[in-house]
Amino acid sequence: MISMPDAIDTVLSRAFPLEAIASPPADAVGLVLAEDVVASRPHPPFPASIMDGYAVRSADCPGALAVVGAARAGAPFRADLGANEAAYITTGAPLPPGADAVAQIERVALEDDGATLRVRDDVARGQHVRQTGSDVKEGEILLPAGTIIGPHEVGVAALAGARGVTIRRAPRVAVFSTGDELVDPFADDASASSRSSAAPSSGSSSSSPSYGQVFDANRPMLLALAREAGATAIDLGVVRDDPAALAAALDDAILARGADVVVSSGGVSEGDKDHLKEVLIGTVGGGRCEGVVHFGRVMMKPGKPLTFAEVGPRPFEAAAAGGSERGRRRALAFGLPGNPVSAAVTFHLVVAPAIRRMLGWRDPRPRRTHATLSADIALDPERPEYHRAALEWTSGSLRGFSSRPGFGPGSGSSLPAFASLALSGGDPSALPVAHSTGRQISSRLTSMLGAEALLELPRGPGTIKKGAVVSALVVGDLRAARWQLPRVYPRVEPPPTKVPFEELREPPDAWTRAREEKERREREREDRRRPPPPEKDEPGQRGGTKKKCDARELILTVVAAPGEEGAKAASSVEFAALRAVPAPWIVTIETAAAADSYHLKEAVMKVAPTSAIVVVAPCGPGAVTSAAAVVGATERGYPSLAPAMRAAVTKLGPEATKKELADEACGWGVNAGEVAGAVVVSAPPKDIEKALRAGVGELCTAPRENWGLTTS
Ligand code: AMP
Ligand code: MG
Repeated sequence: MISMPDAIDTVLSRAFPLEAIASPPADAVGLVLAEDVVASRPHPPFPASIMDGYAVRSADCPGALAVVGAARAGAPFRADLGANEAAYITTGAPLPPGADAVAQIERVALEDDGATLRVRDDVARGQHVRQTGSDVKEGEILLPAGTIIGPHEVGVAALAGARGVTIRRAPRVAVFSTGDELVDPFADDASASSRSSAAPSSGSSSSSPSYGQVFDANRPMLLALAREAGATAIDLGVVRDDPAALAAALDDAILARGADVVVSSGGVSEGDKDHLKEVLIGTVGGGRCEGVVHFGRVMMKPGKPLTFAEVGPRPFEAAAAGGSERGRRRALAFGLPGNPVSAAVTFHLVVAPAIRRMLGWRDPRPRRTHATLSADIALDPERPEYHRAALEWTSGSLRGFSSRPGFGPGSGSSLPAFASLALSGGDPSALPVAHSTGRQISSRLTSMLGAEALLELPRGPGTIKKGAVVSALVVGDLRAARWQLPRVYPRVEPPPTKVPFEELREPPDAWTRAREEKERREREREDRRRPPPPEKDEPGQRGGTKKKCDARELILTVVAAPGEEGAKAASSVEFAALRAVPAPWIVTIETAAAADSYHLKEAVMKVAPTSAIVVVAPCGPGAVTSAAAVVGATERGYPSLAPAMRAAVTKLGPEATKKELADEACGWGVNAGEVAGAVVVSAPPKDIEKALRAGVGELCTAPRENWGLTTS
């Protein structure tokens, strides 16, 4: 009996990329390029405008220019643009000869009924122009051979003007089930009788099973698996446990249908009706094909009887050696075990890699990840096991990479960072957690549901303990995983230099200017009604108003306690904050070193200099710990609430972490203060949203008396 890794090697040593054929790019999705796709022309093929505006000569700007024509996408302006001339231009239109830049429409004005263009600003040479070939150079290899074609590759091939691409042909995979007990669940009687060559005579194709019969689950599943792997699937129905019927099905697959791969299920064990191996080698059944069986049993669970053969027209030697076109028809034949789980698992482990190799994949083997067990698993004393499991990316599995959950070191998507113990920096808590899908008996196909991974468990005796790190072969689509990758917010680095707030915005249009003017007048009216700010700089009222907005004032940091609870509280505050402070505000999370007021306070002090607003997520009974952190960080905090809180904390000392204290001393209100110019608040999420909605602008710029945060 060979091991599974040896079985995979044996199969891959017999599978080869299929011949190259031409295909329209749009029909090649899922297939692999056999030749590079090269750009036949540059893109853009001419200097093109990026903006709607006016094509100008930069040397003439600023100034008053004569508008002499229009260049629109698809309708170029072909005349030379002379000195002090401009032409209207739309996005994507070729720049007229003589012009070297585009003035954005929002930044110019028309005079003299549109005959004169007034450009007020300097215009740099090349401004708002995409130069010829700036996206794609002529002759550039856009898609190298070996690329798996997806929707974006189709787009790139089209952009390159590639009407056809050269890809490797998809393997034809013929699938049949074997078993006298099987009933086709989807067959109506008409289609059952029309498929008489492969269907059994005993009426097993009727969709109503009688005593002793079961529905054929494997064939529909294996056909779907073959399609998912990228093959062209051919349905050969249900075949009786009879050597002649099996041989006829094999002949049909290889000789009539030209199958590159034959996948059957059942009939490979030790029962007196298990004839498939003999049929494959051509000793029974009287078929026109024969072959060699490379292995017929594998040291694994589930799927021990897995059989792999190469089969072709008799005499097989001629078939194997090549020769005539018919002689070359040599197929890979997989006799999968009949139990549905065994059929599914062995398909993933050996058939799918063979299909991928034939498609031309460079690395056709199953991808492996590392995971920690969520519970003890007893090992099989006889065979290594492929245990079905769902993967869960918990907040724990995100630790150790960043203070903001969900992102690994460096750049790119979060997923690869968690793929292995090595990448997790040796920290098992940073790996996904594997949940067994339950009872693993090989007939229980529901154990495949939600199984994204096959855990590679060694042969027993004994038990692998909860928390142990195991390797796992990924067989499901993680994008649709039952336990989703955690939802995280994009991480946006604060800009290295402060950008004046005004510059972050588009120049306002007339409507916006009118609205802003109205709002300004209303604000002035309101300010005149307000009492003047206090003269004295009392303790607890440091700071006062903030005058100028700067870049950091677009950053709101949520300070959270470590651990699951802290992460949960942080994400609900984060959600509330994101609703209240829409883009371009950046909401980030800072996790404190411990879940006590001292460490939360430390985290507040750390982030305050780079944040406009710091929200301490609720922590401790009645949120007393987070409230205490605000008190600690702001010394007195918000005048009306925090001193009361502070007094209570001082009086009761460590006892202050009691819910009664929080409720009685402060209620569930917002505590607020100021640290290093940042507004620091703590509150339950519902109040935070209200407070932030009441006006971020107010929080940052209004006198503290007017913050209006006390919502007790
Ligand atoms: P076999 O490998 O043919 O000995 O079958 C092993 C077990 O799997 C038996 O209980 C069969 O009834 C069952 N089985 C075989 N083929 C299928 C199938 N296509 N769909 C569902 N169960 C099957
Ligand atoms: Mg059987």
